[in-house]
Amino acid sequence: MSTIIIYVTVFYREKGIISGMKLENVSNSQMIKEINQQKVLRLIFTEGPIARVEIARKTGLTQQTITNIVNRLLKKNIIFESNAILSGTKRRPIPLEINSSNLYCIGIELAVTYVRGTLMDFQNNILKEVTEVVPRYEHEQHPMQFIYKVIDHLLQYVPDLNGLKGIGFSIQGLVDSENGVVIYSPGLRWKNFHLRDILQGEYGFPIFLENDANLLALVESLNGQLADSKQSITYKFDYGIGSAMVLQRQLLHGANFVAGEFGHYKAFSGEYAIKCHCGAEGCLTTLASISGLRRYGVDFDEFESKVRQNDSEALKLFQTICSAMGLAVANSITLLNPEHIMFTGKVIDRMEDILMPILEREIKKLVPESCADVKILKLSQTPDESGSAAGLVMNHFFDVPFDKFY
Ligand SMILES: [Zn+2]
Repeated sequence: MSTIIIYVTVFYREKGIISGMKLENVSNSQMIKEINQQKVLRLIFTEGPIARVEIARKTGLTQQTITNIVNRLLKKNIIFESNAILSGTKRRPIPLEINSSNLYCIGIELAVTYVRGTLMDFQNNILKEVTEVVPRYEHEQHPMQFIYKVIDHLLQYVPDLNGLKGIGFSIQGLVDSENGVVIYSPGLRWKNFHLRDILQGEYGFPIFLENDANLLALVESLNGQLADSKQSITYKFDYGIGSAMVLQRQLLHGANFVAGEFGHYKAFSGEYAIKCHCGAEGCLTTLASISGLRRYGVDFDEFESKVRQNDSEALKLFQTICSAMGLAVANSITLLNPEHIMFTGKVIDRMEDILMPILEREIKKLVPESCADVKILKLSQTPDESGSAAGLVMNHFFDVPFDKFY
């Protein structure tokens, strides 16, 4: 046991998985206790209603440990005992469930033209929605005025502030989610902006930030289309392009939090190798996104209707874009061998009927035989990102940092 504790501590320190926690002040037994509790909590959330005996079997923890944890969670009103089912004359063990209706979260979508907030309970019931329209952000501190306004408004509708488990943010831009810093978001006029520290100081609730594509992948992996997937890639073709890679159920952030910058994958050559705002040429985003097309002088609405009217020039550009998307996606599949890939974003939503069949054909044609069983998914509609940001809070609440030790 002591070997495991030391191993966990070393792993913990080296990987810095939970930032901001002073390790020297946390005893090893306390740490193990907390990890065990999270493990049990997550299992009740993902597989509940579930009996104590089943939890013990699936976690490998002793009955006594399970009893202690369950008693703590019952006392805190985080879980409850539901009705035991009768099997013949025998009563089966009492199942446990998350008391979702007493737990709340707030999600905020920070867009260039608005700030939208949603208050919901952990059963995904929306209690209140607020949107503040923003004409234009004038300076670095300007977005904060709108954020405070939205949060203060929503807080009035939280039935019990003790049940509020945090505020999550969906942000278009580079986000260091571990340290709660927006590394770069030109639309918000933020560079190395310490959003989490500012808001935690102001409100005292846990604050979580994530890049929008990563967030989509997280939420879908938690309880959506990717719930059964260990390895997946999510591609968002929208105003810009984003992607998120999940490997062994962990989101890949990269050394500088820029993993998944799929928009700058080099995908166009020859006459279509256009200069990108990143300084390079032929990036996927220069033509396969709404903002890229606009910079190229093509309005997305017009482009869509011209393609549908079989305009030869628009069709030629459309085919070029589809081929480039197919090539880029196929290469990423070859590299990472995902079980699932998932498409989302306004470009996909609007042109799905004509785009997806071409894309699927290109992908199947280009990936090697060994990766050919990859399953291609499409989100029915790009979800409300403030709702997804609220899901970020739930994900953290049930997070188990050390899955590999069980
Ligand atoms: Zn680029």
